[in-house]
Amino acid sequence: MDIKTLENIDINLASISKINEVDFENLTFGNTFTDHMLICDYENGVWQKPVIQPYAPFTIDPSAKVFHYGQAIFEGMKAYKDERDDVWLFRPDQNFERFNKSATRMAMPEVPEDVFMGGLKRLLEIEKNWVKKGNGNSLYIRPFMIATGKGVVAAPAVFYRFMIILSPAKSYYSGEVKVLIAEHFSRAANGGIGAAKAAGNYSAQFYPTKLANEKGYQQIIWTDDATHTKLEEAGTMNVFFRINDTLYTAPTSERILDGITRKSIIELAKRENINVDVRPVLVDELIDAAKNGTLKEIFGAGTAAVINPIVGFSYKEDYFELPKIEKSFALDLKEKLTNIQYKVAEDTFGWTV
Ligand code: PMP
Repeated sequence: MDIKTLENIDINLASISKINEVDFENLTFGNTFTDHMLICDYENGVWQKPVIQPYAPFTIDPSAKVFHYGQAIFEGMKAYKDERDDVWLFRPDQNFERFNKSATRMAMPEVPEDVFMGGLKRLLEIEKNWVKKGNGNSLYIRPFMIATGKGVVAAPAVFYRFMIILSPAKSYYSGEVKVLIAEHFSRAANGGIGAAKAAGNYSAQFYPTKLANEKGYQQIIWTDDATHTKLEEAGTMNVFFRINDTLYTAPTSERILDGITRKSIIELAKRENINVDVRPVLVDELIDAAKNGTLKEIFGAGTAAVINPIVGFSYKEDYFELPKIEKSFALDLKEKLTNIQYKVAEDTFGWTV
């Protein structure tokens, strides 16, 4: 995007930066925000001029539909800094596209490209000192949209607010991840909003995840809502299973988020001559593979964690520990993907912007 198209953004810079108060070595994911945010309001069918202004709370009517009917969507992406101090985005076109798909599903207006991409690039230019070099360091980008229209009538709003906030990050998950396979709860259903990054999908996960945490599991592997026999996603990540030397992952559907890390891993694995089979994976198959020793790895894939190896899973009364593996596909693919993101390796796919 040509930065010139961004001249019609109002920019109101903070008088002092908070950056020197931040301990970049000890960041808790998603708790620290940069000096500025982008706001663009939608009023009666028209997107207004975007504004970049100091990060701060704002007021909103108590009857705004976001509070009552959950009209809210978001994206999660990252900016990385290379050794030459250039700042890079990874497949941002995919986030933009997915954002507008989520908007359509939630009866919200699509955000124009010059507001989403142009606004983001301008914001990143202002905040580039918040992107730190070094593997694992990134600036997490959270574009989101809420219904600001007033009135407790259950109908879509006519006023919306699109915003972008930025949060410096190290890595998302730490420690060993054990997961519980869902037997009753679901995160999504056919015909529902599972394929959208809608806020409600996440609040619906909190209670079952809390129950899993109480039993000592960090995440849930979600199964299909109708039969609970197919493995779909891991927490807020797509999920891969390595049985022998083939990687399996479920096809995207109305119930599964079309993850950008997932699709990148599939392409990367194919390039590495790893067999990838995109098809429904059954709970029974996983249990059999765990019992007969052919299950080698399970990992989650998503922007925040990149790749998150899973050390064991529980189903009904049984717990299965994964073997310690010499040549892990998860770690190898993670390294290859992050090398592209940090511009350490050549980006032959043309993913970095
Ligand atoms: N599934 C869900 C439910 C998610 O929230 C995410 C995170 N956006 C993912 C999968 C992974 O998607 P991505 O690789 O685009 O971050």
